[in-house]
Amino acid sequence: MRTDIPVNHPRFISLQTRAQLVEGFQNGLVSSEGLIAHGRGEAFDYLLGEETSDYSVSAIEAACCCLLAANHPVISVNGNFAALCSTEIVRLSNLIPARIEINLFHRSAEREHLINQELERKGAKNCLGSFSSKSNIIPGLSSNRRIVHSDGIYNADVIMVSLEDGDRTQALVEMGKKVIALDLNPISRTAQTANITIVDNVIRAMPMMIRTINMIKLEKNSEYMQGIICRFDNKRNLANSFKLMLLGLERQSIPE
Ligand code: ATP
Repeated sequence: MRTDIPVNHPRFISLQTRAQLVEGFQNGLVSSEGLIAHGRGEAFDYLLGEETSDYSVSAIEAACCCLLAANHPVISVNGNFAALCSTEIVRLSNLIPARIEINLFHRSAEREHLINQELERKGAKNCLGSFSSKSNIIPGLSSNRRIVHSDGIYNADVIMVSLEDGDRTQALVEMGKKVIALDLNPISRTAQTANITIVDNVIRAMPMMIRTINMIKLEKNSEYMQGIICRFDNKRNLANSFKLMLLGLERQSIPE
């Protein structure tokens, strides 16, 4: 944690998050492009008022039910996600339980190794990645992300992705998989293509997912979970999230 950011600064969390990513970049976890991608996310978060909306809460509940009901769920991890949420990724994967697979757009063996090391430091065991044997190819995808593990993404029925490119989401959906996306931009191709999109910052959504999974496991049954999954309408949820951003902008534009 950076000590030169005053805790009473109105944008303390946002500045700390930036510092965490810069540290991830300096440690080799985050790519330079990842820093720019975070900037795009920040802009949408600003429009959201940097708060988890009720629409995100609904999407989180649907996503948790979907992950718990899955036969073979996988959490896909990239550099930004690992730099910001490694503790939560490992906790969530143990709770569901789900496999963790490292899958990078700007891939290098070195970065994969460092991300794996970071997750292992937080307690992860047997993370998958292109370093493991048994790799397979996602059909119709040309980026580095096409190389996936047979025991992970390739054979998964539900995959959670974050800071994702729309191409892979599209390809995974075409393979018949259910995709849960964490994406602050409700109009990105990823957000629009995924089955369940959580329009929220990963730093807020992940702790809430852990709390929600704990609650569902303790208090709910599979009938309840199926009801939540069936009733969730991603297109409507995305439209509402976008409307919320527009309303926020409208409020700002009204002169005093
Ligand atoms: P697409 O191909 O889906 O249209 P893109 O090219 O716009 O995606 P990328 O640069 O591949 O997007 O990925 C960055 C995405 O991640 C952006 O949509 C951005 O809003 C989102 N994002 C960035 N930081 C965060 C964060 N901390 N939490 C959630 N989403 C984030």
